[in-house]
Amino acid sequence: MRAAVLHETGQDKLEVLDDVETAGFGPGKVKIRVRATGLCHSDISAMNGVLPQPAPFIPGHEGAGEILEVGDGVTHLTPGQRVLLCWLPACGTCPSCKRGQTQLCLAGFMNAGTPNFKRPGGDVFGFAGTGTFTEEVVVDAGCAVPIPDDVPFDIAALIGCGVTTGLGAAINTADVAAGSSVAVIGCGGVGISAIQGARLKGAAQIVAVDPVLSRREAALRFGATEAVSPDELGDAKQRLTAGEGFDYVFEVVGKSVTARTAYETTRRGGTLVVVGAGAMDDHLQLNMFELFFDEKRILPSMYGGGDVLTSYERAIALWRAGRIDLESLITHRVPLAEINEALDQMRTGSALRTCIEI
Ligand SMILES: [Zn+2]
Ligand SMILES: [Zn+2]
Repeated sequence: MRAAVLHETGQDKLEVLDDVETAGFGPGKVKIRVRATGLCHSDISAMNGVLPQPAPFIPGHEGAGEILEVGDGVTHLTPGQRVLLCWLPACGTCPSCKRGQTQLCLAGFMNAGTPNFKRPGGDVFGFAGTGTFTEEVVVDAGCAVPIPDDVPFDIAALIGCGVTTGLGAAINTADVAAGSSVAVIGCGGVGISAIQGARLKGAAQIVAVDPVLSRREAALRFGATEAVSPDELGDAKQRLTAGEGFDYVFEVVGKSVTARTAYETTRRGGTLVVVGAGAMDDHLQLNMFELFFDEKRILPSMYGGGDVLTSYERAIALWRAGRIDLESLITHRVPLAEINEALDQMRTGSALRTCIEI
């Protein structure tokens, strides 16, 4: 079958090959025919080595499709069923799951070290244990989450990562208060979803911050009350909050330099929510005096900071009711053969989300 493969970490192009096979099908597993997959910034971060991932690998972790086959012991799924892919399935029995923090379950991460594809040349990994830039994928049954018939594959794919991450940061992690002021630094698909979450929660001011004009324009359509370039953020803080800082600032880039800006843009006693996925050698510096004296709450948010299955259902309910716009998040559509063009659109910031149709 066809799949887009990264041969070595650090390369910036994928090769679309037609000699890839799925591997590891058996008890507890399902085989899925992927129909749509979103391109998430984490895919690029895994390709360039910011996020750890063994190579060669097939990127993609935001996908949806149909069940082709179920392994022994899988009783809740049947062939033909429509599902989205969850890259962080909860095991239900580890300490994190028992505490109700299923988004911190590491059981699924163990899959990332087991190749779920092969080629004549050898084993191929799937990013984060999934790998959706392919026609078919074998994953743990827990990664396959049934979706209602009225949810198209492209919308379901986005709910599988970016939408859940951004909405959850505003709704679960920050629990944005009605009437509050919010700034969102980084307005790709996840940042826009955080903006939609802040709007749903009743924020009075939502300032979108991004260097790319088309993203700033998009942010205004999704509920931002103002959109500024990074150079203009200091002025916006002065003008809108009398210099005090915003009640909530979302860092959706994953770099220490933007996290530091976000910290400084948060008011004393306010909340900095860290959503971006950054590198292990990129250190955020805070001095002990400011940390204590300013009493700013620093809240990291992983995969929406809440139970992912609950977050999926909420996103579907909000989308169905017309309370969030997911269709307009998809600014580009390409076939798998044009995956490298899609990567370039993501790197230059011209795309909010690119849907790869398979
Ligand atoms: Zn993602
Ligand atoms: Zn668990």
